Amino acid sequence: MHRETYTIGIDIGGTKIAFALIDGEGVVREDKKIPTGLSGSTEFIQNEIGKQVNIFIKKYGSSITGIGLATPGYIDPVAGIVKNAVNLNWKDVHVVDILKNSIEKPLPIYLQRDTVAETLGEYYFGAGKNCQDFVFLGIGTGFGAGALTSGQLLTGFHNMALEIGHLSVDEKGPQCACGNVGCIETILSGKGLVNRANELFAASHDPVYEKMKDSITARKIISMAKAHDPIAEELMGKMAKSLGFICAVLKSVIDPERFIIGGGLGKAIFNMLTDDVEKEMNARVFKMDDRPTRFYKSSLKTSAMGAGAMVWYFNNILPNSLNNKNE
Ligand SMILES: [Zn+2]
Repeated sequence: MHRETYTIGIDIGGTKIAFALIDGEGVVREDKKIPTGLSGSTEFIQNEIGKQVNIFIKKYGSSITGIGLATPGYIDPVAGIVKNAVNLNWKDVHVVDILKNSIEKPLPIYLQRDTVAETLGEYYFGAGKNCQDFVFLGIGTGFGAGALTSGQLLTGFHNMALEIGHLSVDEKGPQCACGNVGCIETILSGKGLVNRANELFAASHDPVYEKMKDSITARKIISMAKAHDPIAEELMGKMAKSLGFICAVLKSVIDPERFIIGGGLGKAIFNMLTDDVEKEMNARVFKMDDRPTRFYKSSLKTSAMGAGAMVWYFNNILPNSLNNKNE
């Protein structure tokens, strides 16, 4: 008889932490969100993250096969250390060891960058199901990507493969928070979109726009573009062009079957921009008429599903959703 197994996914973001208990079909059985405590990382991991994991352990016990932790920033997944996560204010935090010592049952704990985790989430439970070659593009507050090639996660020597938000593509481009100029993230992110809108509003010398300056949101810009506001349409056009350019580069380097667009902003602009992105990409790459690279919208219900999917991947097992054989 098939025994039901669960994984715990924990996505640690700058403002909130998402927990999910996921079964082998990719169904989220329990989920919870708590605000991120930005001071005293050790105490926070022990008292808040550890506490929630222990609640799951008490309830589901031996059916839990492992924990996946997803965080932003530069991490060492082998040592289990978050080396530098600016948004969390974490530097050299031994998150895996701290959590291991805070939970009531020994479990394998895996750590990865959030976009890498989301890539695995798409592979097992989302728009990348049954696809061995795809690129995940996460457009949210920032911009990041992950990829699976021939069914293997692309991680790189520093575990920073496809961390492309801070790749500078325009030496005369806008100043980025990282210190460089013209990073992709200055165009392709919620923060970037708002900053560019404020610049155009200020330069317009139009009181209607000037009034919106500094209170505009990415969501509002999207609805303005839908109503054919010229500045919002210009901004969306720039996003489509940059995204098309990045996809052309990634298509040439990785040759994926699919691009999966995720992140809050990515999902919000998907229907509006995909045709233009595809056109821009195809104009820049070697022409191949058969088997075109397709665009898909992320279908994960919570970011913590990606973190949970890491357990399936690194424990080297297939969830029920991909393996119908009884064990
Ligand atoms: Zn940058």
